[in-house]
Amino acid sequence: MIDLIDTFNRVHRDLRVSLTDRCSLRCTYCMPNDFNSWLPKEELLTTKELITVIDIATRHGINQIRLTGGEPLLRPDIVSIVAQITELEFPPELSLTTNGLGLAKLAQPLFEAGLQRVNVSLDTLNRKRFHEMTFRDRFEDVIDGLQAARLAGLSPIKINAVLMQGVNETEAVELLTWALAEEYDLRFIEQMPLDAGGKWDRATMVSSERIFADLSSQYSLTAVPVRGSSPAEEFFVNGGPHKVGIIASVSKPFCGACDRLRLTSDGQLRSCLFSQEEMDLRKVLRDTSRTHEEISAEISSRFIKTVRGKLAGHGINDLSFVQPHRPMSAIGG
Ligand code: SAM
Ligand code: SF4
Repeated sequence: MIDLIDTFNRVHRDLRVSLTDRCSLRCTYCMPNDFNSWLPKEELLTTKELITVIDIATRHGINQIRLTGGEPLLRPDIVSIVAQITELEFPPELSLTTNGLGLAKLAQPLFEAGLQRVNVSLDTLNRKRFHEMTFRDRFEDVIDGLQAARLAGLSPIKINAVLMQGVNETEAVELLTWALAEEYDLRFIEQMPLDAGGKWDRATMVSSERIFADLSSQYSLTAVPVRGSSPAEEFFVNGGPHKVGIIASVSKPFCGACDRLRLTSDGQLRSCLFSQEEMDLRKVLRDTSRTHEEISAEISSRFIKTVRGKLAGHGINDLSFVQPHRPMSAIGG
């Protein structure tokens, strides 16, 4: 099968797969505390449907799959999903982004099933602030989950942190000092206009420039020369080998090197987090008038069409920018 190359010659190798839109936290930049517009269960792709899509994607050259959500560890058969992906004819590199709450229980079985890496989201080291930022008093569970991930052998363990003005904006140095001591790879992510409440404001976003300046007050940062398609700009800390990353999606978009596609938990393929359009794969997967071969051929053709229709950039900085109708938790971050 042909590679997924768009009209700007970007070759797509990375598929982010959302397993559910539900979550056990309510991070204020992602989901309002009273959010309840969940997708009905029957609209989510079944595990069999998911594996069919991922199998086709890997035949088109996708070699990295990241499981995400919502909170992917809430998917009851997450271990079996991981095992089935690793058993595909062209097994991709497999990682997972999680809030960490389920890791104490699941890190070991996930590692045994073939999961290689985890990204754990943690925005603060202060328990009270964690509670305020997520509406759940679960800080200790994240720390326990991180320890379980390390014990299980998942490596590297990356930490994703979003800083918010007037909330945790002063924690950049503290988070890095902690991550260095614990040997976690820390990446800061600029807050993006993807919240369900539509409250994002560029003026209050903690920019990559500010994060860099804060970190530089304590540490010497030197740019890592090769970036490739990674969303994070990486820096050696005090000459290395430890690094820190900053994902400046808003202030320094990196769309020119983007190799990512996204599959929502209800089976919609997106070429960008910020796309206004989605390609319906679920409808094809459930079309009982087609044979298995016809379904595979149509899914394949929809992957190619989605990639061919990908725009040059996400357009966050254009005057005409419109926030996608789904929040990050529903698209899959
Ligand atoms: N629930 C999992 C977690 O939190 O890691 C996976 C899904 S979450 C949507 C994936 C990542 O997106 C997290 O690191 C989270 O911090 C980030 N995220 C969510 N909303 C965001 C926003 N508005 N701007 C920037 N990052 C965001
Ligand atoms: Fe849940 Fe992750 Fe969104 Fe936080 S960022 S509310 S953990 S999906």
